[in-house]
Amino acid sequence: MRRDLLDWYAAEHRHFPWRATNDPYAVLVSEVMLQQTQAARIAARFPRFMAHFPTLESLASAPAAAVLAEWSGLGYNRRALTLQRTAVMVARDGWPRDVAGLARLPGIGAYTARAVASLAFGIPVGVVDTNVRRWLLRRFGGPDQPARLQLISDALAGHGRGPEVGSWTHATMEFGAAICRSREPRCGACPIARGCPSRGAAVMIPVPRQPPLRGSDRAYRGATLRLLAASSRHALQEREVLVSLAAAGGGIGPALDETGWARVRNGLERDGLAHRAGGMLRLGAATIGA
Ligand code: SF4
Repeated sequence: MRRDLLDWYAAEHRHFPWRATNDPYAVLVSEVMLQQTQAARIAARFPRFMAHFPTLESLASAPAAAVLAEWSGLGYNRRALTLQRTAVMVARDGWPRDVAGLARLPGIGAYTARAVASLAFGIPVGVVDTNVRRWLLRRFGGPDQPARLQLISDALAGHGRGPEVGSWTHATMEFGAAICRSREPRCGACPIARGCPSRGAAVMIPVPRQPPLRGSDRAYRGATLRLLAASSRHALQEREVLVSLAAAGGGIGPALDETGWARVRNGLERDGLAHRAGGMLRLGAATIGA
C-alpha cells in the first residue's frame, strides 16, 4: 500500500514550490501558511514571502510591521508574529531535532511539529491533517479518535527511510486532497482501492465548521490590517480606517459603531498586531522607546 501511494504521488502530484525543498525554514513557513489557508492561495504567496525573507535570520531581524505587511491577506495574522518569534528562537538556539522539541516552539502544534520533523529532518512520523484523517477513516474504518488515527499514521510512516520519508508525508496529504476527496472521492482513480471498505460508497467525514466571516471581528481585524499594510507608512488615522471599512461594506459587514470599533482596535493592540501612536493607528506592536 505504501509503494502504491508513493508511486501515485511521484507520477501525479501537483507541483507546489514548498514540495521541492527540505530546508527547515522554508518547510516551516509553508506549513504555517497552509494552516487554515488553501494550497492554491499559498502557491503565489509563499515564493513572495521567501523572496522578502529568504533566511530564518532575515525573518528574525525584520520589523514586525514588515512581516505583518507581507502576511497581509493570508488571514489569521497572529500566525505571522508567532512565526517570527519561532525564527528568533531558532536563530538563537538552533533547530530542535525531534518532534517534542519542535512542538515547544511558538505556534507549532503536534501537526506542524510532525510535518517539519518528517519533511525537513527525515524523521519517519505520520501527520494527520483534515485530508489524512478523511482517508484513514475511509480506508481503515473504525472510530474517529485522534490518538488512534495518529497511531495508524505513525505506523504507516514508520516504514520510511531517507528521502522517502518526506515524499510519504506529502503523498498522504495530497492523496486526501486529490483522490479521497471530501465530496465525490475518485475511487475509480484510487491507487489503494483494493480492499477499501468505503470503495464506491464513501461517506462524508464531518469537519468543524468555521463561524461566518462576514460581520465578525475577524473580518474587521483582517480588513484593518490590510488597510494599514497597503498604506505608504503602514499607518493611518483611525477615522480613515473607519471610512474605508464603511466604504468596503458588503464583504466585511455593516459599518462599525464606536463600541464595535473600540473592541476591534483593542483586540489588534492586545495581540500586538497594531498600536496607536502620534494620533495614528500603526501596523505591529509599539516598540520600546518609540
Ligand atoms: S477507494 Fe475511494 S474511499 Fe477508498 S481510499 Fe480510495 S478514494 Fe478513498
